[in-house]
Amino acid sequence: MSLSPPSDIASSQPAAATDGHRNRRLGPDTVICHAGRDPSAHFGVVNPPVFHASTILFPTLAALDAKAEAKVRYGRRGTPTTFALEDAVSALEEAAGTVLTPSGANAISTTLLAHLDPGDHVLIADNVYGPCRHCGNDVLRRFGVEVEFYDPLVGSGIDRLIKPNTRLIWMEAPGSLTFEMTDITAIVAAARPRGIVTVVDNTWSGGVFFKPLTLGVDISVQAGTKYISGHSDLMLGTISCSETSYERVKGFAQRLGICVGPDDAYLAQRGLRTISVRMRQHHANALELANWLAKRPEVTRVMYPALQTDPGHELWKTHFTGASGLFGFVIRETDRQRLAAMVDGLRLFGMGSSWGGYESLLLPTDPRILRSATTWREPGQCMRVHVGLEDVSDLIDDLERGFERLGR
Ligand SMILES: *Cc1c(COP(=O)(O)O)cnc(C)c1O
Repeated sequence: MSLSPPSDIASSQPAAATDGHRNRRLGPDTVICHAGRDPSAHFGVVNPPVFHASTILFPTLAALDAKAEAKVRYGRRGTPTTFALEDAVSALEEAAGTVLTPSGANAISTTLLAHLDPGDHVLIADNVYGPCRHCGNDVLRRFGVEVEFYDPLVGSGIDRLIKPNTRLIWMEAPGSLTFEMTDITAIVAAARPRGIVTVVDNTWSGGVFFKPLTLGVDISVQAGTKYISGHSDLMLGTISCSETSYERVKGFAQRLGICVGPDDAYLAQRGLRTISVRMRQHHANALELANWLAKRPEVTRVMYPALQTDPGHELWKTHFTGASGLFGFVIRETDRQRLAAMVDGLRLFGMGSSWGGYESLLLPTDPRILRSATTWREPGQCMRVHVGLEDVSDLIDDLERGFERLGR
């Protein structure tokens, strides 16, 4: 059985992907449809089959002795199901290789721990996803790593924060809850000559609208839980690496015994096939809702870099080719009871952690408690909205009634 993807879309050479006839590079949507799949290896079945496996049997002593060369050797080390997803995500992220982890939070901790030794200094953006901050404060510090948070708007000022022992810079753009854009190019320009590893949490773009590795970032991390899976029904993390960082991360993940279940890997690759059309619709729907919110008297601010009025709009345009369905907004100061009346009565927006599925979500947030290098001073109640694939007119109706209840 052949385990390799069709040669013209092999993830290890995304730059060389061609249609084989006119020597033209395949478009990104085509790559997402075909990368990591090899129907001819599985009786013509379109999707890679689900291999449930722990023990892999070796028929002879000679085969057992050559175990280290076998691509499939033990369930924890991967199966054709997980290899297919790794290859597909590598093609999406234009990465040399991808390591799968059981959650996005684990992709973060594994990437950090794979690179940082006692005495190292790490710079983490102040608007990162909460559990990334907690990993720095509660795990890395315990292991003697010097953890420093930086203003995500620092730009080339990052130079002044870099120390001789700085080993890694963590970025997230736009950041969780407040959606500031970070100047990734400026940070990479400061880090690269000094050999500092750069990482971007790329969950927001799903890897469709932003390819950090093409800007010289070493590693792009995603919560595959979100847009890659796209259906709110599994947990997954992806660590997509440049050639130079792949072996380190893969080896470290192996030492920690990290692996993912076959059913989740299968579902994630299934979700991935439609990610580009989903993302385009999320973008269109979110833009329409954001523009509507911006005109509401209850709303004092909308935080969505795709809006021309957003302070991060220019940076977003230089790095991204589109925007996802997730953004923030602030409503005028209100009491808990009125807020409850607004959100409890919503019919289409659900309330809960995570996002990236086909359905809309709305969540009150509090960015103040997740900052240390900067202070969140915006008065009013912060909200995070995930705009799903519903009809926007229905979403607007639902929110309009919510605002009526808020005002009562
Ligand atoms: C949700 C999220 C994660 C963590 O993913 P889980 O799969 O929930 O552990 C990481 N980064 C960002 C930006 C996220 O939104």
